[in-house]
Amino acid sequence: KVANVILQAENIVARYGPVEVLHGINLNVKEGEIVSLLGSNGAGKTTLLNCICGLHSSKEGKVRFRGEEITKVPAELVVSRGMAHVPERRQIFSTMTVEDNLWLGASHRMPKTSKKEIAKEMETVYQRFPILAERKWQMGGTLSGGQQQMLAIGRALLSRPQLLLLDEPSLGLAPLIAKEILTIVQEIRAEWGTTVLLVEQNARAALAISDRAYVLSTGTVMLEGTSEEIMNDPRVQSAYLGHA
Ligand code: ATP
Repeated sequence: KVANVILQAENIVARYGPVEVLHGINLNVKEGEIVSLLGSNGAGKTTLLNCICGLHSSKEGKVRFRGEEITKVPAELVVSRGMAHVPERRQIFSTMTVEDNLWLGASHRMPKTSKKEIAKEMETVYQRFPILAERKWQMGGTLSGGQQQMLAIGRALLSRPQLLLLDEPSLGLAPLIAKEILTIVQEIRAEWGTTVLLVEQNARAALAISDRAYVLSTGTVMLEGTSEEIMNDPRVQSAYLGHA
């Protein structure tokens, strides 16, 4: 069975003011895949993610999600169609409790979905992230970087996404914690069947958990393929993987 394409970005051109930073990007993600978006600083990874989820409006091209065009749909409505976005630096609310941060993830589903039902789902998130359960009454800002990332992912899961966009989830974390976060991403796919589009600086770690990858370079796709193909490409090895 050929898996369905869940996300398709076609010929995306993006600008900041007069400056064009994405020059016609084509990308697709199939249901159930983990796809990584790699590339050096400033390559355009965050901008592309923002174009996909509706946060960056100055763009041309087409974005299709689950068969529908969403190019002009604003981010807050894209969420309710099943695409959740965890931005770079997480943006959790530091003066709200962990529990209230989690509720926010489900806010657009209420009152259609009952509070009781969401509370039940929240329990599964707490089971997945026991440290969040332990700290549910603490302010978000008191959590460590890794815990805040878990909170941001947990919050995104409460929007019950079919597609999860993660922007550098390991940014600023100690190597062991970064690895743990990427393992969690893999487990989420296995447990919930969530499709993932992942932006990562750490190419090696990202390729280890993904099926396919795109390498961006100054606003164009320089390379795409299975993780194995990308891992073995000499250009990638010299530019992004270093010597190991
Ligand atoms: P990083 O890993 O540093 O986030 P990136 O690959 O995600 O890099 P983007 O953040 O998408 O890259 O940036 C792409 C280009 O757009 C860069 O040249 C950057 O300087 C520029 N850029 C990003 N944000 C803005 C902005 N708000 N205003 C103007 N230019 C911007």
